[in-house]
Amino acid sequence: MAIVTFMEERCKGCGFCVEFCPKNIIFLGEAMNDSGYHYAAIKEMEKCTGCAICALMCPDAIIEVEEAWK
Ligand code: SF4
Ligand code: SF4
Repeated sequence: MAIVTFMEERCKGCGFCVEFCPKNIIFLGEAMNDSGYHYAAIKEMEKCTGCAICALMCPDAIIEVEEAWK
């Protein structure tokens, strides 16, 4: 498992991370940041493989993926 964090205030809600996550565990929530964008979040962190594709796809590099020990 890995821990994925988003700099929510800098998310533009483009959805690239949502589109490319092979586990389909990223979504754009109902809440908006101060810039008015629905920001990305994870729904089932335990399914994350730590592949970091989401971090690579984010055009603003606001996703951090850390390995987590069980
Ligand atoms: S690290 Fe991989 S599995 Fe985990 S949220 Fe990002 S794209 Fe999905
Ligand atoms: S790719 Fe980056 S900017 Fe786009 S929705 Fe995901 S976290 Fe936000």
